[in-house]
Amino acid sequence: MKKEKATKIGLLLLFAAFLVTGGLPLWKHRRYRMPVVAGPGVTRIIRLSDFVPSLKGSVADTEVFVFDGREPGGKALVMSNTHANEPAGLLTSLLLIENAVVEKGTLYVIPMFNASAGRNTKPGDGYPLYFDVPTSWGSMRFRMGNRDASPLEQWPDPDLYIHYPDKQMLSYLDVRNTNRTWPGRPDGPLMERVTYAAMELLRRDKVDVAIDMHGAETMFPVTNCIVAPEKSARIATITSMTVKAVEGFDNHVEPSPGNFRGLSHREIGDFSATLPFLLEAPIPFLDQPTGPKTVKLMMDGQDPFLLSLARKKKLFVPYDENGWSMDKRVGQHTSVALEILKQFSKKYPERAIRLSGVPRYAEIVKNGIGSYFHDPAKADPKSVHFQ
Ligand SMILES: [Zn+2]
Repeated sequence: MKKEKATKIGLLLLFAAFLVTGGLPLWKHRRYRMPVVAGPGVTRIIRLSDFVPSLKGSVADTEVFVFDGREPGGKALVMSNTHANEPAGLLTSLLLIENAVVEKGTLYVIPMFNASAGRNTKPGDGYPLYFDVPTSWGSMRFRMGNRDASPLEQWPDPDLYIHYPDKQMLSYLDVRNTNRTWPGRPDGPLMERVTYAAMELLRRDKVDVAIDMHGAETMFPVTNCIVAPEKSARIATITSMTVKAVEGFDNHVEPSPGNFRGLSHREIGDFSATLPFLLEAPIPFLDQPTGPKTVKLMMDGQDPFLLSLARKKKLFVPYDENGWSMDKRVGQHTSVALEILKQFSKKYPERAIRLSGVPRYAEIVKNGIGSYFHDPAKADPKSVHFQ
């Protein structure tokens, strides 16, 4: 009897040890705070809960960095981490927050749009928990997130997600995917409230342009492109042609399908006066037939299996042994976003949005994205914000 009790206690302790060793890294990951140093252009910070008060106090409530320009003009929103496992967009947002100055118009930047997904991970796929970006003052550590919000914030999932208001039937997982829950509603599931808050920002502040930055597999046809509905197509096409001709990287336009609901490039256009654009940069890390999902693959995009598939012409992007680095992806997002604003301003001069202080593709690839980040330890503590 005594022996049996000892075995039971031993097994219980073993179970507790597994729980702690397995759970502690995830607990720390959720609580890890990524600093961003707000640059000279940031004039105020608002939150999504300013538009949907029920978000207040939840993990989903996230910061919106606002740059009020020196001169009035048009308004643009740039957002990233709609899918938090596509982090080139996040680094592009941080590049803007730390460096951009707005000469004319107003810029809004939401770096961590799905803040819950940014604290989620995918251990089953062997996702790393963090990735590091080298800078001149040491390396900067970022949380690697997941595509969907964490079930810790939004649970349980339905058997099917019925899109609001279209009633289209989507996968149960899409109820936590902030690129399926647009336009949302103020009293819906948490992620619908997140997208609704952004819709309210676009409508109330009369934002002209919305840019949602993503990453897509090299084996997926909708990659290396701008996805745009009819109303944004002209500006998207001129942008795509210009970056290709002037900056030498490949890009094309994909039309936003009218019958595929819940996506930012569809619903923002249909439910507000804003022109939406969704940017996709190739992210080899997300392709299925790759080697291990390492930080190295996330950062340099080099993979021997993709290389052999590229030789068999199975990829939708040009791909060689140089892979597709994070610097290249951030450079592409930055140049495409800046070019959209430039082309919009040309077409609507009275609503122009002009920025300075932001490097473009060639410069980012040459210097590395880390060279544009400031040391939070040396910055004025009032300008350091945690994501
Ligand atoms: Zn995405």
